[in-house]
Amino acid sequence: MLDIRMIRNLAQEVQEAADRKGLNFDVNDLLDVDDRRRQLLIEVETLRAQRNKRSDNITQLLREGRKEDAEKEKLEAAAGLTRLKQAEAELRTTEDEFEALMFETPNLMSADTPIGASDKDNVEVRRHGEIPAFPFKAKSHVEIGDSLGIVDIQRGVKIGGSRHYVLRNNGLLLHRAVQQLALDLLADKGYHLFDVPVMVKEEALVATGFFPSNRDQTYSVNNGERWLAGTAEVPLVSLYGGEVLDLTEPLLLGAATPCFRSEVGSAGRDVHGLYRVHQFSKVEQVVICRAEDELSEELLQVMVKHSEELLQLLELPYRVVAVCSGDMSQKNHKQYDIETWMPSREAYGETHSASNVRDFQARRSRIRYRDEDGQLQFAYTLNNTMVASPRILIPLLENHQKEDGTVHVPEALWPYMRGMDRLC
Ligand code: AMP
Repeated sequence: MLDIRMIRNLAQEVQEAADRKGLNFDVNDLLDVDDRRRQLLIEVETLRAQRNKRSDNITQLLREGRKEDAEKEKLEAAAGLTRLKQAEAELRTTEDEFEALMFETPNLMSADTPIGASDKDNVEVRRHGEIPAFPFKAKSHVEIGDSLGIVDIQRGVKIGGSRHYVLRNNGLLLHRAVQQLALDLLADKGYHLFDVPVMVKEEALVATGFFPSNRDQTYSVNNGERWLAGTAEVPLVSLYGGEVLDLTEPLLLGAATPCFRSEVGSAGRDVHGLYRVHQFSKVEQVVICRAEDELSEELLQVMVKHSEELLQLLELPYRVVAVCSGDMSQKNHKQYDIETWMPSREAYGETHSASNVRDFQARRSRIRYRDEDGQLQFAYTLNNTMVASPRILIPLLENHQKEDGTVHVPEALWPYMRGMDRLC
């Protein structure tokens, strides 16, 4: 959510952000409702003042024994009260409309966000590592997983339907190993690590900017009594909802959680294998800091570096891309994705995503701090994937496969893999 004063001042920029993000949003609808809301607020306040004044008048007139004048005043008071009730009801409806449109208003984008329609327009920032050239017929992760007996798509689908999978023995070990390595890296960097609820209240999703825009992406439990979060960003940001924090230093938070996504809208895309599934696990970073653009930009860069460090430890070739306007969600101000080389796709595939949302979530969540002058300010929040599995198993299995059918295990994973340097 943005500040309505800022929206009024920068209406054109807000509209431009909506258009460039491909959102169906008209800032004039919001400004009209806001005008109406403000007029009604004034009317309600005036009518309330009149009501109080009339009530004093009636008491005074009765005290003076001027019964007839008091009766006249009572009639006017009754008419005023009817109008007040009407205006209060109109105000309530208008406030609801206003709130709904505020929730739909997109965040402004950073000046350096590339303008584009889809992920094809994302701009490569840097590359790392060599793309492997296999002197043999390379297998896909599904084939490797099957032949090693560590990934079983068929049985996953049997249990959960399409976009499900089963990991077995070393498959499970690898899945947990990458997450534990990610958590240990975060702990080394001073992150506070959490186990948090992923079955959350609707308020948590509204407060973090996932609702109303992503409602259809989210599974509900008991007809909306609770919702299954698609990312730990939701509970991690919500940890401090409604609080005034000491942000002398940024708050560094991490969690490993299961994530659930309906993947509505990606019908037919990436249906096979481990790329796009309904349930996966993710180690997520969230940073809450003072509302300073330069500081938040620095933190965004550092968070991306953390993910790069992990990918380098996993010995995987990857590239960092600046995400363009059309590939960016409503809440993001600036975003980088990391794409890791996936031989079976003959392409880099998205494995990580880092975003600076500035005060968009903190305004909704009411996360504040006191600045040097003691004034309450809304904080900035940022989030980033440290690792998401099983998607990361695709590049791990495919890039590290050997001609004899075994798979090299990067040294950084050995302590989490019972010392195993090879899957066979
Ligand atoms: P996001 O929170 O949408 O930016 O996604 C962060 C990361 O989670 C992605 O880069 C993927 O690695 C992973 N991810 C997102 N959606 C899925 C999915 N449906 N299946 C598997 N992994 C996913």
